[in-house]
Amino acid sequence: ASSTQTLEFQAETRQLLQLVIHSIYSNKDIFLRELISNASDALDKLRLESLTDSTLEASDPHIVLEVDKGARTLTVRDNGIGMTRDDVVDLIGTIAKSGTAGLLAKIKEAKDAEAAQHLIGQFGVGFYSAFMVADKVTLHTRRAGTEEGTVWESDGEGTYTIAPADGLPVGTSVTLHLKAEDSEDGLGDYLAAWKIRQIVKQYSDFIRWPIRMATEPVSTTTDDSADADGEAAGEPETLNSMKALWARPRSEVTEAEYSEFYQQISHDWQAPAETVHMRAEGTFEYEALLFIPAHAPFDLFSRDTKRGVQLYVKRVFIMDDCEALMPNYLRFVKGVVDAHDLSLNVSREILQHDRQITAVRRRLVKKVLGALKDMRTKNGETYATVWEQFGRVLKEGLIEDRDSTDALLELVSSASTNDAEKPTTLREYVERMKDGQDTIYYLTGENRAMVENSPHMEAFTARGYEVLILTDPVDEVWTDQIPAFDGHRFQSIAKGQVDLDNDADAEGTDEAKAEKAQREQDFAPLLTWLQTTLAEHVKQVRLSTRLTTSAACLVGDAHDLTPTLEKMYRAMGQ
Ligand code: ADP
Ligand code: MG
Repeated sequence: ASSTQTLEFQAETRQLLQLVIHSIYSNKDIFLRELISNASDALDKLRLESLTDSTLEASDPHIVLEVDKGARTLTVRDNGIGMTRDDVVDLIGTIAKSGTAGLLAKIKEAKDAEAAQHLIGQFGVGFYSAFMVADKVTLHTRRAGTEEGTVWESDGEGTYTIAPADGLPVGTSVTLHLKAEDSEDGLGDYLAAWKIRQIVKQYSDFIRWPIRMATEPVSTTTDDSADADGEAAGEPETLNSMKALWARPRSEVTEAEYSEFYQQISHDWQAPAETVHMRAEGTFEYEALLFIPAHAPFDLFSRDTKRGVQLYVKRVFIMDDCEALMPNYLRFVKGVVDAHDLSLNVSREILQHDRQITAVRRRLVKKVLGALKDMRTKNGETYATVWEQFGRVLKEGLIEDRDSTDALLELVSSASTNDAEKPTTLREYVERMKDGQDTIYYLTGENRAMVENSPHMEAFTARGYEVLILTDPVDEVWTDQIPAFDGHRFQSIAKGQVDLDNDADAEGTDEAKAEKAQREQDFAPLLTWLQTTLAEHVKQVRLSTRLTTSAACLVGDAHDLTPTLEKMYRAMGQ
């Protein structure tokens, strides 16, 4: 038509398009996620405006995906807010976002595609991702409340055309003329219903508007008697579940719903031990729905076990195993974080360095540790099973996450000489400490029996000191690194000089001192002999008050590795 105008893309837009077309993305499927997310935004906007403007109405808001195999097109259509001609020129023809030029310069300097993709992720190419799979894109749109529609079309090279159009419904449709290179057997991949279904399920399942698929009418194709998917053509089918539990207020979600959702994302068959559901408002909005499982997966300790938190942006799935949101020692926590203000293309690397994400992570960690603490006080039995399953992993946090040391020490549950059956908390231990005792005694080893029968134990049990029995390999490490709990040092009874005589019992008297000196004198020749004979095996031989029935025991230096730790390092080949 004579009213068709050909316009040039802004220089920067053109450059960005070139990058997109020459595929910066290894994963082309995301184009659909971008277009659906735009359609969903448009439906949100119309609903919002219709609240204040009674002339606008949103009836049956939805997104529909239309496939035309004959024409090799895929159309994403919505009946949302739509755009005016000026909107189209501004929003689609231009990238008015600040910092584009600088970003493009950096992308050009990027050493490889992956680095470029990281940069692009900060920005998000949105609509333009359509050109990854299409060699021509046609957009029809009409703004709600206006009469005239607009058609925009481009091959993504240097220019686009724009023209008025009559008789368009309110909303927007984006038609992709799919590239031949993405087709398999002459049947375009992105024309295949199974493929579309799969992408929608993966990325857009929780979009809150229905995403329907309309396959082409039977009559338009000649050989369609048996559709590849074996379905009746033409019947719209809703592809997404729309149920984003995390976006609903807590009070409106039942335990059964939480549990079902948990089982769906975790592939667990049991209900979770605890659910944490929160919403943060303000400058960085997000919702989080996290679960503490009741039992551990089989691969909790394998090197490449994944973290259980998924990242969404406004209900669009972005990634699994989001390490930026959950520290390694909480890898067993499952759930979803839906952040509202991130680019859909955000990369792992960007997330790692994003200060807001770091703040979110800190808050989530606090929430989870707080939930565990509450569970311990209110629901001890459940806590005991959770600790049994995940205690070893949580203790890794004592090494990894110094900000949470106090919260984690409150969670520690340990076997102890106080009670053969019942583990103790550190706080309970401290409350039972003898008068004048100011350190927390512990002994590490491979199992309870070995620790209990250790000669190191003798003097302590004989004198009624409680000793923590620590049998997880990680105990060797954290006890070495955490200085104290509530002001009380951790002291291995197998390391250094543990001088029970200082512990305010009657032994500090002059009489006792004289006796000790006498004993040392008596044993001096024996000690010297032992020292020379064993020179290659021990650093020092000394007289001890540790033992009651055993004749001798091996003691580590205060800074030596314990036998278990030595074994652990050796096993790791160090
Ligand atoms: P973003 O979604 O991050 O803003 P996009 O490139 O995806 O970036 O889209 C650019 C803009 O184009 C959107 O912000 C929106 O204003 C407009 N737009 C895109 N698709 C639609 C649509 N289906 N309906 C209405 N407006 C749209
Ligand atoms: Mg977008």
